[in-house]
Amino acid sequence: MISKEPENFIVPATKKCSKCGIEKPLTEFYRNKGSKDKTASHCKTCLKAYTQSEKGKAYQKAYNQTEKRKAYRKTYDQSEKRKAYKKAYSHTEKHRAYQRTYLKTYNQSEERKAYRKANRKAYYQTYKQSERYQALRKTYKPSEEQKARNKAYRQSEKCKAYINAYRHSEKFKAYNKAYSQGEKFKASQKAYCQSEKGKAWLAAYKKSGKCKASQKAYQQSEKGKAKYEAYKQSDKYKAYQKAYNQTEKRKAYQKAYNQTEKWKAYQKAYQKAYQKTYRQSDKGKALIQTEKNKAYQKAYEHSEKRKAYKKVYRQSDKMKAYAKAYNLSRRVKPADKESNAE
Ligand SMILES: [Zn+2]
Repeated sequence: MISKEPENFIVPATKKCSKCGIEKPLTEFYRNKGSKDKTASHCKTCLKAYTQSEKGKAYQKAYNQTEKRKAYRKTYDQSEKRKAYKKAYSHTEKHRAYQRTYLKTYNQSEERKAYRKANRKAYYQTYKQSERYQALRKTYKPSEEQKARNKAYRQSEKCKAYINAYRHSEKFKAYNKAYSQGEKFKASQKAYCQSEKGKAWLAAYKKSGKCKASQKAYQQSEKGKAKYEAYKQSDKYKAYQKAYNQTEKRKAYQKAYNQTEKWKAYQKAYQKAYQKTYRQSDKGKALIQTEKNKAYQKAYEHSEKRKAYKKVYRQSDKMKAYAKAYNLSRRVKPADKESNAE
């Protein structure tokens, strides 16, 4: 029987392995605080063979899944000792070399590629807002090689297709709309319109068929019509009309128009209609009844002008046609009476 008293406990220099049965020095055994002699019962060689065997691996795996083991690992991972170890280890060249190798393999894995593809946009957005990127941008100077590459890309079909697709995207439209309403854009537009280049462009554009077609389409649109109606009511338009009516161009046009048959016909018709309306109005009727008008009518009836008119009228085709029709009606009348008498 072995005494529990330390002073009476004799530590043997060698030990027999309970697996292989070989007598080995104690340095060939791992320490085990739980056992009586503080060393494992199996030698290092046997233990290594066991942990690498299928049975040993299965046992270890099952053991790691136990709640006891999980709790232990958790406590251990959070211990100061473990943290200090991790920190120290992360600075070792061994760890760095391992990381480099691992990352190289990992970055080329299908899993990683798929992840990058799925998260590229989000990652790039985040990256662009990072201080690191902003700092890099300020100091970034592309090499000649990079410049050449960029130029080649801009001229490539791929780039053109991309730009084309972007210009038709909703995103671009929204951006454009917001931009065109901004102060920055308005200021730049104003500056361009006042520049020689801008003026030349506008002059060329106004002469182009594109401009005329676009104007025509606008004038015929509901929006264009409404705007024109509103414009006609404005003081600006009235002032413009007034000024225009006094121009030589307008006067010449008016003069030419006054001599057209169209205008004369219109005038004649208008006067006739106006006189008719006037004669039927109370004012017109009153005028006809005045002594002055009666005297004028009487004098007119006996005037040479009136006699000449009557003479011409009696010989006119209109009068002859009227007389013929009148005489015919008189001849027909007796016959009608006879037929009625029967
Ligand atoms: Zn052994």
